[in-house]
Amino acid sequence: MNPKILIIGACGQIGTELTLKLRETYGVDNVIASDIRKLNNDVVNNGIFEVINALDYNQIQHLVEHYKITDVYLMAALLSATAEKNPAFAWDLNMNSLFHVLNLAKAGKIKKIFWPSSIAVFGPTTPKYNTPQYTIMEPTTVYGISKQCGERWCEYYNKQYGVDVRSIRYPGLISWSTEPGGGTTDYAVDIYHKAINYENFTCFLSENTALPMMYMDDAIKATIEIMQAPTENIKIRSSYNLSAMSFTPQEIAKEIQTHYPDFTIAYEPDFRQKIADSWPASIDDTSAREDWGWKNDFDLKNTTTEMITNLKKQLN
Ligand code: NAD
Repeated sequence: MNPKILIIGACGQIGTELTLKLRETYGVDNVIASDIRKLNNDVVNNGIFEVINALDYNQIQHLVEHYKITDVYLMAALLSATAEKNPAFAWDLNMNSLFHVLNLAKAGKIKKIFWPSSIAVFGPTTPKYNTPQYTIMEPTTVYGISKQCGERWCEYYNKQYGVDVRSIRYPGLISWSTEPGGGTTDYAVDIYHKAINYENFTCFLSENTALPMMYMDDAIKATIEIMQAPTENIKIRSSYNLSAMSFTPQEIAKEIQTHYPDFTIAYEPDFRQKIADSWPASIDDTSAREDWGWKNDFDLKNTTTEMITNLKKQLN
């Protein structure tokens, strides 16, 4: 039987593409998209959409009961760069929205939860290259602290109350159809927009800052596959490392130059450099590959081709 899905934060960078893919996979009537803001886009116009505040337990419970929801994908959060500007609110939103959903599952009102974590759970004391699944975690951003605590609570609710919660530590995500939401890896989307418009790009990170990244199609595939995996295959209930590629601003610029030879990049690092410096450069995701068969389709080369082809189509 198809799950009945509620997505909270469906108008965001990931939520938008996730909603469309879940509707395609399970049927439009089985996917309820929700967000605190109502945009004029496919998510809102081509399926069921509700305005909801993820900080309001009663609103979520009402939707869950009304639509007989089985699975919740909680995508609402304040992202790394935005969170640093408003730490108290970021903590409130990122933690309490998660508690609401975990408590709904504990009360038996929903069956399964997807909640995204991030490479921001790691910090400057974490091994930087090929960061293992289990390692030192001392995040220095409010976003990273909220994600690490979220992971601990997910595992706790699983072990103590049997809540079926599944999670991935997303790297920086690259997509052509949706705008990034205020993260430290946003430059890797903006750079393509500049390139296709024949503009030069000024990067807010320095040229040799390597960060783990992933094309959105891979991230959506991983999200749906971890939710479809048999329960016994999900052995990690905090969050899985997930990896596809790692590159520096200089390397992505070089790849873009194979399509646009005149494209140039300049570097003006700002406050986000410090955040990036505290994160891993690459990730070991052996556990995800072994436990539930994760495999990426996109590297820097085919991501760049996809981004440029689709952005050009959109522009025309
Ligand atoms: P985003 O900022 O683009 O989208 C978040 C959505 O949540 C927005 O549409 C926003 O309107 C909505 N929202 C905010 N507050 C809300 C509230 N109170 N109630 C209901 N909706 C609310 O973020 P995203 O990039 O789509 O990220 C989704 C999740 O994935 C987040 O948990 C984020 O931390 C995680 N993540 C994202 C990335 C990335 O590169 N995009 C990387 C790692 C982890």
